[in-house]
Formats: sequence, C-alpha cells, structure tokens
Amino acid sequence: MAFESRNPANGEVFATYEGSDKDQIDSALEQAVTAVGTLTRLGFKGRAERMRRAGDIMENEAGELAKLMSREMGKPVAQARAEAEKCAWVCRYYADNAEDFLKDEPIEAGDKGRCALRYLPLGPVLAIMPWNFPFWQVFRFAAPNLMAGNPGLLKHASNVPGCAKAIEDVFKRAGFEPGSFTSLLIDGKTASGLVGDARIRGVTLTGSEGAGRKVGEAAGQAIKPCVLELGGSDAFVVMPSADLETAAKVGVKARIQNNGQSCIAAKRFIVHEDVYEAFKDRFVQELKAQTVGDPLDEDTDIGPLVGPDAAEELDAQVRDTIKAGARAVVEPGRREGAWFTPGVLEDIPEDSPGYKDELFGPVALFFKIGDLEQAIHLANDHRYGLGSSFWSKDEGEIEEACNRIEAGSTYVNQMVASDPRLPFGGVKASGHGRELARAGILEFTNRKTIAVK
Ligand code: NDP
Repeated sequence: MAFESRNPANGEVFATYEGSDKDQIDSALEQAVTAVGTLTRLGFKGRAERMRRAGDIMENEAGELAKLMSREMGKPVAQARAEAEKCAWVCRYYADNAEDFLKDEPIEAGDKGRCALRYLPLGPVLAIMPWNFPFWQVFRFAAPNLMAGNPGLLKHASNVPGCAKAIEDVFKRAGFEPGSFTSLLIDGKTASGLVGDARIRGVTLTGSEGAGRKVGEAAGQAIKPCVLELGGSDAFVVMPSADLETAAKVGVKARIQNNGQSCIAAKRFIVHEDVYEAFKDRFVQELKAQTVGDPLDEDTDIGPLVGPDAAEELDAQVRDTIKAGARAVVEPGRREGAWFTPGVLEDIPEDSPGYKDELFGPVALFFKIGDLEQAIHLANDHRYGLGSSFWSKDEGEIEEACNRIEAGSTYVNQMVASDPRLPFGGVKASGHGRELARAGILEFTNRKTIAVK
C-alpha cells in the first residue's frame, strides 16, 4: 500500500511513500522492545540530552518543517511554524521536568517498612495520530513517553506520511537509539490489529469518536491502558460583563485556527441576550477581516480544508442545519476542491447537526441565552466535553462555570489552548486520560508500590 502527500490547496500529489510491510512492522516491534532497555540505561540525563537536541532541531528547522505541514494538510504556514516551535518547547519542558515528575512518592505505612510509589516505564506505546496538528499531536505524546522510558510506535494519519517520516528523522538525528521512535506507514485497521500484540503495552489515539470506539474496544479486549483524545464541540460563553471587543477577536481566532479544524476550537458561541447583537456584530466584522488564501503565504489566516471530502461533509452539515431552521448570518459554503467560505449560523435547532455534532471547519454556531443557568445547560447539552471558554468579570459566575461546565477544561477570559504545563483531555464522548503536564507523563507508567522491610 502506498501513501500520498497531496496538497489540499490545489489537489496536486507531490510525494508518494511505500507503506510498511509485515516484516518491517515486526522488526519495528522487536526493536521497540529492545529500546526499553536502552532508554532505561540512558537514565533521565541521557534521555534529556537527546530530547533537548530534538527540541533544537525543531526550533532550527521550524521554517522547512512548517512548509511540509502546510503542503500536506493546508495549515497556514505562520501557524505551522508556531506549531514546530511549540514542539521544541514540549521537548525542553519534559527534558527539564520528567525526573522530578517521576520521582518516588514516599508513603507512610507503619509496619510495612520503607514504602513508596515508583513510576516505572510500561514499554512500547502505540500512538495513532491525526493530521490536523501533524507535529504537535505527535510531540505531545513522544516527549513525555520517551522521557518516561517508553519507546513510541507512530501510526500517523494516512494523508501526512511526509510529516510522519520527518518526525522519526528528528528523533533519530537527536540521538535516540533504533527502536526508540518509529513511524509505521499503515492503515487504521492494521493499527487496531497491533493493539493486541503482546509487545505493545499501551495505546493512545487522538482522532474521531468513531476511531476512538474501535481503538478503545481493541484496548479493552487486550486489557491495555489507553488514552483517547477525541472530538469536541466546545462552548464559548459570553456573559454581559465580558470585554466584548477582546472576546470577539479571540472568539474568531478560537474558531478559525487551523482552518477551523481543531478539536478545541470554539464551535458553539453561547451569548447572553443583553450583549448578543453587540458581540455578533464585532465577531462578524472580525471574521470578515480574515485573509483567506494560499496556506504557503505568510499573510494567510484561513487556507483550504484538509481535502474535498472534508469540505463536502461540512457543507452537508451546514445545509442540513439551515434546512432544519437555522439562519445564515454570514453564509458559509463549499467552493472548488477543498476550499470553504467561513461563515456564521444562528437560531440553531436542536435536531440539527449544528446542535448535536461537531462542525470541523470555519463555521461559528451562535446561540442566545437569557441567564447563566441556560448557558450552562446549553454548554452541557452535548455528547462531547473537551474544552470550554467562559467570558465574564463576575467571580460568582466564573466559579459556577468552572464547577458546572462538563468539560476537560474551562478557560476564563481566554481561548482554550494546549500548553505543555497544563493537563489536556476530555470527558464524555471526547475521551479519557490526560496529556501534557505531569498528568500526561504518568499515563503510561507502571505505578509500582514498593514496600521494603
Ligand atoms: P480520524 O479518527 O479519521 O483519524 C485519526 C487517526 O486515527 C488517523 O491516524 C487514522 O488513520 C486513524 N484511524 C481511523 N480509523 C481507525 C481505526 N478504525 N482504527 C485505528 N485507527 C484509525 O480523525 P480525523 O482525521 O477525522 O480527525 C479529526 C477528528 O479528531 C475530529 O473529531 C477532532 O475533533 C479530533 N481531534 C481530537 C483532538 C483531541 O486532542 N481531543 C485533537 C485533534 C483532533 P487514517 O488516516 O489512516 O484513517
């Protein structure tokens, strides 16, 4: 099976890669098992040296790697460069902090002697990753796991084979020994099949709910830990005391980042009736000021979607939502190929895709509410619970929102953004487990109880 790199801006195939065959997969698994010992022998110091070198490579080569991302999946190049630089940050963050995060936790247990909780590596972890942040999603898995001593086997999305290979190359050049990090060019079904292999000790998937159910099922059958980072339809709640100017500017950015294809993009704008029109006007003005264009152009804010299929699917969701009774404030819609005009819908009916599903592209959904209770009810009336953004100056409202919005995070007076220092993950159908910060490095460790008498 071959994997193609196709530029979504013009449909051109610019590279082709041979898929990994059975022997190559088997040898990668064997090497990963050997690498457990190698990583352990390196200790934190040796692993951190290599991880810092990986960070340096990401920083030094951010410009070139950004172009590769933009060409394979359409991300505006300035955002792609920021993504590469963020990868350098996460490498340095875990190089600096892993040892402290994983140090023994002493436990007082009287007659049991010297007791502690010790965090040991679990072994090779399979990472199934999406195309939308083709470097960042992988690095936020790889940096903590390599530092914890777990080799990584990557099954990247089929449309970003160039990024998959480039990431493997970064870790190799950083000095990580063979088997520490390998990219397998395989399809989803083959990846799911690997979950049951005894040499794989855990699996992490970032992607759609459908893939999450399949991989979660395979992990359950195999009795292996799994982290699932799935879809989202994040609420962005604006209350009367909010700074509307800033909220509208940040709201547009939160909706259109990565051409609207981010799991933590603000998707549902839940706005108090007292400020609804004022916020909407500012939002529309800001949205119209965005530059839609070639992703390789430095000034582009919004490029194409990842491919024509994605544009068609989003277009169908928009049309069905309008058919059900929604009103287009700014008409979104498909253009040629993977190109999609950003837009805003309001009066979203409960039985429409705009209410129930995830719109993975630059379409903002507006909802008017009369009070905080309604805002929280609407925010929670969804099967997803990934992030949430809440805008208010009222301390009481802020506390209520932080306690009652069913999501993996609530960011107040700012957009949701992943950050190496802050745990990241969801609840409900957005998945389970956490990435980043100390919580992320603990996921694939053997939390071993030591009791020495
Ligand atoms: P997909 O689920 O289609 O793809 C993600 C990865 O899963 C790809 O590597 C894909 O491989 C693989 N995959 C697909 N089906 C299976 C399967 N049955 N078994 C094993 N692996 C499989 O996701 P999308 O490309 O649609 O990505 C967008 C989705 O990801 C959105 O819902 C978005 O919200 C979510 N996402 C969640 C994030 C989070 O942190 N919570 C972050 C980013 C995105 P292949 O390409 O070969 O099909």
